[in-house]
Amino acid sequence: MKLSETGLSEQGLKDIVKRYMIETYERYDFIAERADGMYLYDPQGNAYLDFYGGIAVNNAGNCNPKVVAAIRDQAGDIMHTFNYPYTIPQALLAKRTCEISGFDKIFFQNSGTEANEAAIKLARKYGIDHFGPHRFEILSALNSFHGRTFGSLAATGQPGSLAQDGFGAMTPGFAYAEFNNLDDFSARVTENTVAIMIEPVQGEGGVNPATPEFIEGLRALCDEKGLLLILDEVQTGWGRTGTIFAWQGYGVEPDIFTMAKGFGGGVPIGAMVTTDAIAESLTMGTHGSTFGGSPLCTAAALAEVEEIVEGDLAGNAAEVGAYLIERGNSLPHIKESRGRGLLVGFEFDGSVDATDVKHAALDRGLLVTAIGSSIIRCIPPLIVTKKLVDQAISILTDAVNSVAASSD
Ligand SMILES: *Cc1c(COP(=O)(O)O)cnc(C)c1O
Repeated sequence: MKLSETGLSEQGLKDIVKRYMIETYERYDFIAERADGMYLYDPQGNAYLDFYGGIAVNNAGNCNPKVVAAIRDQAGDIMHTFNYPYTIPQALLAKRTCEISGFDKIFFQNSGTEANEAAIKLARKYGIDHFGPHRFEILSALNSFHGRTFGSLAATGQPGSLAQDGFGAMTPGFAYAEFNNLDDFSARVTENTVAIMIEPVQGEGGVNPATPEFIEGLRALCDEKGLLLILDEVQTGWGRTGTIFAWQGYGVEPDIFTMAKGFGGGVPIGAMVTTDAIAESLTMGTHGSTFGGSPLCTAAALAEVEEIVEGDLAGNAAEVGAYLIERGNSLPHIKESRGRGLLVGFEFDGSVDATDVKHAALDRGLLVTAIGSSIIRCIPPLIVTKKLVDQAISILTDAVNSVAASSD
């Protein structure tokens, strides 16, 4: 839908949002009317270079033509029918995802938080089935982010944060340990613990990659104590960190992993993947979702997955991501440039506010996200080139300098 078709002015549209929507997002001051590849466009046709990819979602590029065609075709065939009949794209996507990951079974959901709910429910059911009613506690990392529904929210290790504070008691059965601290995780395992759940790279928590020793150590700890290792790959999955799934890059296999963001090329879809043996705990009637695995969303995801695999977008993420991290070190006031693949964070030294830098970048035609007051996160579509990285770094340099000058 185009603004010109509505008869509204830009301000008129913004006024409607202000009047009618519950606003929990700090809005960027522009209207995204159209997107294509690496760019978003406002109603006047101004282009914005996309280094946030709809929050690590549009991996094969905005409005990837194959994904758009798949959605158009499927929308005319069948969009939705619940999960009683067999549907074609759902079956094919299940097969493809299991083949690519080497895992056995998938359960479809609609989002990252729901994919994690499925993982949490499966782990709890598995623990109680195999070890007794006490065994359902999940140990996750401080500073993690697993979603905003009550199970995933409780797994999110951010006590006292805006996400948790004021919502009453969190779901019981969760404990936290320090990320990248194997001793702390080890010390907090009890006879009630059934699983350890982490992000391979903490995304919302500030772009903190797990060290190889940490992930390998968690795998060994889980093997020793009979625990399940759950990896939340909602943000890291589907090529983002330089391999299709981040665990492949670490060479450590989880027991359960989840995906969402980059899976559907822009449509809402999530999934939980596991082995045959563990999947046995989710028997008939124990879990479900009206929309999960809909023909429309699975058709889109099937096209997106093929684009990621055939285009070796994971390989591009590894190469261009390393370049982006290296170039980030040249930014003014940079403290640390870090990440894995195209999940990259630039931490500043405290002399500039990241939110101000984000807005200054937007004014100059570059979309990035800010985490807290010191980190700028870059999560572009995985089709990004080194040339576009040079452009983004040049815009960011200018943005940082202008923020620094005005805060002097
Ligand atoms: C975004 C995110 C989620 C939540 O996904 P939603 O689709 O917003 O529910 C969960 N885990 C991680 C690691 C994420 O980055």
